Amino acid sequence: MNIILMGPPGAGKGTQAANLVKEYGCAHISTGDIFRKALKEQTKYGVIAKYFIQFGHLVPDDYTIAMVREHLKENEFPNGFILDGFPRTIIQARELESIAKEFKFQIDAVLNLDVDFDKLTKRLSGRRTCRECGATFHDEFNPPKQVSVCDACGGELYQRPDESEEAVKVRLDTYTKQTRPLIDYYTMKGEITNINGDQSMEEVFNEIKKSLEGK
Ligand code: ADP
Ligand code: ADP
Ligand code: ZN
Repeated sequence: MNIILMGPPGAGKGTQAANLVKEYGCAHISTGDIFRKALKEQTKYGVIAKYFIQFGHLVPDDYTIAMVREHLKENEFPNGFILDGFPRTIIQARELESIAKEFKFQIDAVLNLDVDFDKLTKRLSGRRTCRECGATFHDEFNPPKQVSVCDACGGELYQRPDESEEAVKVRLDTYTKQTRPLIDYYTMKGEITNINGDQSMEEVFNEIKKSLEGK
């Protein structure tokens, strides 16, 4: 099963992707995680992405699309994949359709996590991310068992530099202008399922599982 997981920054995409991986054994493809890894390793995509990410802007479409294309080409997905954070623009969505034709896969579900904007700032300011595996925790809503240590892999938890107040403002604004129009795009194609992301993590996951029944 191949799934697109959409939603504003902090909506719970990474959290729910981790649940889906556990339940269905599919691969988690997070463009944010791939960019951060590239940045750490200073590969060409990392060097390009650094300044855009830091200030909360989107990395230009051509680089992002090339990177995703490479990732889909070089890996195998016997149990399908979850695209978390891609596509984020209409151009990326159209390109994904031509990549799907070329590599002969289909998207089985487009899930949109819906959370009020006023809740997102709190989710983002309290988020702690694992340097090693990208798992996310929250100081208040989902604290790790041990302070600053990832439950999943023992890696160190840190606060992302693009989680500053200014960068978060830009990211939410970028979402409104460039990514939210995708909801209409997929709605018109009749492919989207809206999930209420403003519930407990377990409740959100139950709603997701229900929506995937029979797919
Ligand atoms: P969030 O968890 O807030 O949704 P991500 O970790 O998915 O954020 O993304 C972090 C940053 O990486 C984005 O602010 C953007 O700069 C860059 N990025 C991730 N995915 C994309 C994409 N599909 N297109 C362009 N830039 C992206
Ligand atoms: P995204 O990948 O969409 O940016 P994350 O999954 O990283 O979002 O979640 C953002 C923050 O909010 C994290 O700190 C996470 O622990 C927390 N979070 C995720 N889902 C919920 C929820 N349903 N209720 C409260 N906090 C949540
Ligand atoms: Zn970890």
